[in-house]
Amino acid sequence: MFSLYNPADEFPHDCSLRIGGLLPMTTIDYPNHLACVLFCQGCAWRCRYCHNPELISPQATGSISWSEVLAFLRKRRGLLEAVVFSGGEATLQPGLPDAMSAVREMGFKVGLHSAGIKPTAMRRVLPLCDWVGFDVKALEEDVALITGVNGSGRANWQSLEMLLGSGVDFECRTTVHWQLFDCQRLERLAERLAALGVQRFAIQLARPAKMLDKQLGSAVMPDEAAELWPYLQQLFDHFELRDA
Ligand code: SF4
Repeated sequence: MFSLYNPADEFPHDCSLRIGGLLPMTTIDYPNHLACVLFCQGCAWRCRYCHNPELISPQATGSISWSEVLAFLRKRRGLLEAVVFSGGEATLQPGLPDAMSAVREMGFKVGLHSAGIKPTAMRRVLPLCDWVGFDVKALEEDVALITGVNGSGRANWQSLEMLLGSGVDFECRTTVHWQLFDCQRLERLAERLAALGVQRFAIQLARPAKMLDKQLGSAVMPDEAAELWPYLQQLFDHFELRDA
């Protein structure tokens, strides 16, 4: 179906992204924009609640080629407004800057979902982003308890600091599983983010149905959370509670 179109004729970029999936249309992955989402293959962390474990292996062959993506986007010009690079962790792929440049040249805005796993890679792609959904795992000292990787807290917060200084529009989001978080830690995290100048914050409740760590069951939201949400609403210009 896509074989007649050769994107290399139009876009001289060397994009070798491994893409594990494509969501053709969404209204919720880039605020106020009709977008598609590219799920990039590979992640260096192992968050216990990860609900995309099939995207973690960097070796897995992407199910969609970059030329198929470009052909898809060419047909969606004027219909979609933005392309969101999600994961896995998209910034780990060396081809990401070229891929972002290519979709920009096609007239789409560029969105990125990232946990800033590698700050140097984050620095490289930020100038190419119009909006970032930044995954703050926890307070810096608690991040490794979630990701299972030493040093992940420093990387996560260093990338956040970079994002804050970049001028790129963004929101912070934190996935909460109640076996890994309690309300006190969540409150301290939110206060720290607000003090840094974060204006948009979302709590995403972990999906119990599909998680990397099968030992992690569903956990009941503590009663005191009912008092926390109104407080968080006061801390930020925009606060949302979502099912992840
Ligand atoms: S949830 Fe964690 S392990 Fe899963 S893709 Fe995101 S950063 Fe990687």
